[in-house]
Amino acid sequence: MVLAQLGGSISRAIQQMSNATIIDEKVLNDCLNEITRALLQSDVQFKLVRDMQTNIKKIVNLDDLAAGHNKRRIIQQAIFNELCKILDPGKPSFTPKKGKTSVVMFVGLQGSGKTTTCTKYAYYHQKKGWKPALVCADTFRAGAFDQLKQNATKAKIPFYGSYMESDPVKIAVEGVERFKKENCDLIIVDTSGRHKQEAALFEEMRQVSEATKPDLVIFVMDSSIGQAAFDQAQAFKQSVAVGAVIVTKMDGHAKGGGALSAVAATKSPVIFIGTGEHMDEFEVFDVKPFVSRLLGMGDWSGFMDKIHEVVPMDQQPELLQKLSEGNFTLRIMYEQFQNILKMGPIGQVFSMLPGFSAELMPKGREKESQAKIKRYMTMMDSMTNEELDSSNPKLMNESRIMRIARGSGRQVKEVTEMLEEYKRLAKIWSKMKGLKIPKKGEMSALSRNMNA
Ligand code: GDP
Repeated sequence: MVLAQLGGSISRAIQQMSNATIIDEKVLNDCLNEITRALLQSDVQFKLVRDMQTNIKKIVNLDDLAAGHNKRRIIQQAIFNELCKILDPGKPSFTPKKGKTSVVMFVGLQGSGKTTTCTKYAYYHQKKGWKPALVCADTFRAGAFDQLKQNATKAKIPFYGSYMESDPVKIAVEGVERFKKENCDLIIVDTSGRHKQEAALFEEMRQVSEATKPDLVIFVMDSSIGQAAFDQAQAFKQSVAVGAVIVTKMDGHAKGGGALSAVAATKSPVIFIGTGEHMDEFEVFDVKPFVSRLLGMGDWSGFMDKIHEVVPMDQQPELLQKLSEGNFTLRIMYEQFQNILKMGPIGQVFSMLPGFSAELMPKGREKESQAKIKRYMTMMDSMTNEELDSSNPKLMNESRIMRIARGSGRQVKEVTEMLEEYKRLAKIWSKMKGLKIPKKGEMSALSRNMNA
């Protein structure tokens, strides 16, 4: 079960519970069983799922909840908190500081995406003003140095490696020393992988780690690894001091839950996820927004960040002001479509906009979704200003709908579908009403509000 499906199953279970007239023991148990099944199907480790179920039952004591309590909300909050608990080891990872040299060592099995992720990590920091450098200490896999060299050159990141030297420790030490001299503040060491866990790999990792004394060891894990994830992560943790995890290939059809169990195994947080083969298909991982997204609650903080990144500066205050007044008009939807079409890579942005993800743009069907958006926009081009700026759903009567269909050369049922989509989004976005408009840097407060 891919993560989007997992999210869908969990939200459906919560929705079904909400539809019940009375929430009693049976309704709660049905809901929890449904969630348990979904998590297990996604390869989340059995013990974690069982603990989660027990904890929720402990928190939600139906007998003790007074009649006035909103049981549904309390249960939903408990599920949200427990999912966050699985993903949050409770202590943050070491964060490199700009301007101060840090050495970060990457470890993981061959094929996990380690080399690709090293470059993504370097590129991400370079864009934020760091001076990163890459060292290829993978002497095991033929072609590893070439791959790193190619990626590094593309991203204009200095690199170090050797075709001749077979001792990974020697290369790692030389590379780190060289880039320290060159005042690089983020020196990334890519180490060898193996097809499977084996003693030689762990010994080599230990030696490289001892020689380069990394400030942070990042364990890279392929999200498709399934139930084996917990043990694999634990084996790496026992050999080197893993301080953070990066889960790759979250864009694929992997179940994902297994890799997320790695957090529990390494007691280290997931700091980024890889969402594609390209350099910029890399996202910061934050537990709460991730779980919100998983439960279809929308990733508000990610969305707000995106607004600051992609909506032109002069349009931001106006858009946020309108949203905070609860005015999600067709014109705002139109403008958001315009922004989305401009932004790319479309999938990433979409998944962050509350309500825009699963229904409007199913994963892997970006082209169709893009065509759908363009179709909607053509229909909206045939609307009057009054129609675009109104937030009164009753305004769109039959004759207006027919006129729009004629004007845009589309069928009436397509216009109706577009208006239904608008209503759905307006309902979700109405949650923004009354919110304090945040400035950049105040996102987490907003996120907390939305998730509460
Ligand atoms: P390594 O052996 O661990 O260094 O793995 P590589 O970096 O060579 O990656 C193995 C394959 O996975 C390559 O084809 C990468 O392009 C691909 N890959 C890495 N990260 C991702 C990701 O996040 N999504 C997808 N779809 N592919 C990825």
